[in-house]
Amino acid sequence: MERATCAVVGAGIVGVCIAYELSKRGIDTVLVDKGEPGMGCSYGNSGAISSASVAPLAMPGVLASVPAMLGKPDSPLFLPWRYLPRALPWLTRFVLASRSSVVERSAARLAELHRHAVDRHEALANEVGVPEILIMRGHLHLYRNDAALNGDAAAWRLREQHGIAFTRIGRQQILELEPQAPADYNVGVYIEDQATVRNPFRYVQAIFQKYKDGDGRFVHADVQDIQRSANDGWTLSAANGAIEASEVVVAAGAWSGRLLRPLGIKLPLETQRGYHVQFQSETAPVSRTVVLTDHKAFFTPMEKGLRVGGTVEFAGLTAEPNPRRAAILARIAKEKFPGLEGQPFETWMGHRPCMPDTVPVVGPSDRHPGLWLAVGHGHLGLTDSVGTAITIAEGMLQARGQTPNGF
Ligand SMILES: Cc1cc2nc3c(=O)[nH]c(=O)nc-3n(C[C@H](O)[C@H](O)[C@H](O)COP(=O)(O)OP(=O)(O)OC[C@H]3O[C@@H](n4cnc5c(N)ncnc54)[C@H](O)[C@@H]3O)c2cc1C
Repeated sequence: MERATCAVVGAGIVGVCIAYELSKRGIDTVLVDKGEPGMGCSYGNSGAISSASVAPLAMPGVLASVPAMLGKPDSPLFLPWRYLPRALPWLTRFVLASRSSVVERSAARLAELHRHAVDRHEALANEVGVPEILIMRGHLHLYRNDAALNGDAAAWRLREQHGIAFTRIGRQQILELEPQAPADYNVGVYIEDQATVRNPFRYVQAIFQKYKDGDGRFVHADVQDIQRSANDGWTLSAANGAIEASEVVVAAGAWSGRLLRPLGIKLPLETQRGYHVQFQSETAPVSRTVVLTDHKAFFTPMEKGLRVGGTVEFAGLTAEPNPRRAAILARIAKEKFPGLEGQPFETWMGHRPCMPDTVPVVGPSDRHPGLWLAVGHGHLGLTDSVGTAITIAEGMLQARGQTPNGF
């Protein structure tokens, strides 16, 4: 039997950051994962520290745009008919979250969570000994023309309202930033104060190593359930043993719902499966995070070459990856950057843990003292990992000032 003051379930970027932060603050912590740290969704993301992304995914008008996207074979959104009944309750909530009043509330909460993300990651990368993993060259969003940019006007207005600085630029300035920018993009928006992690998996590993170099413990276990123990703490049960802890943090990404449901906590959590294509080369045709907005695809200069990340696929936690989704990303990449033709690449699929209003649930459970949630970071879990860890650690130490989250 393993015992600790706090057990953190899930060693993705969120759980690893939490365990490290707790341990740094003197809380005896055990981190638990069924696999190797960082091998879940945090393995293959696009590495963008996007503190400017305050616009939730469900924006006013989203319902009108979905049928057109679903109809196109190379659409960034894919929902197989057989999965529709499963996804429908979540999609209904998603559409309801696109009401202006909800959007404004979500944007304010996202802005709060994202605040200081770039500075915090810079400090963390230094602290864990991998400062070279970050590039601080901003993010460039590319549009074909003004009409396309106007289609996203509501999201850019929200950024403005939250004090985020960005610059609209034309073709010449795009080329000054990115000389190989594809010819069909004439309008750009440059957000200078953004960063990129050039190897998200190595980043998780570096934080994990630093955690272990301190007093941090790790247990390899597939937690089957979490129950109140006789001494008012918690027991985590797994096939290879039990773990006793006074506090538990559930940070199990898209799998968190299964652990929380028996405790009466029904999170509206859905996996949005995303894909990446990782070209294997020394160099990349872009020097910073570049977003091709029409394909909703992120082009990132990783340590091992260009990574193209994107796609939202609704198909649940158990279905095999769909090779067609990754093939679409590879085709777009080669079309836009013909020099990639013939380069070898690897593909990957990960489960983004998504809430309908885009806002993760971070803090103590309202129902169960000693149970903490760090769940639902969706498309921005890397960005918000450090902020989440600080919120949980401060909350646990102070046990005050938390707003009810309804779960
Ligand atoms: C294609 C793509 C691109 C992305 N790009 C970005 C980006 O540029 N910027 C950004 O900020 N975010 C991005 N994201 C989102 C980001 O990757 C996720 O939000 C983040 O990785 C979620 O982290 P997590 O720790 O919550 O989950 P995960 O990394 O999935 O970790 C959860 C862990 O819990 C463990 N676990 C689950 N159940 C149990 C159990 N019962 N017992 C023990 N262990 C368990 C799993 O093994 C896993 O290791 C992207 C995602 C995708 C798919």
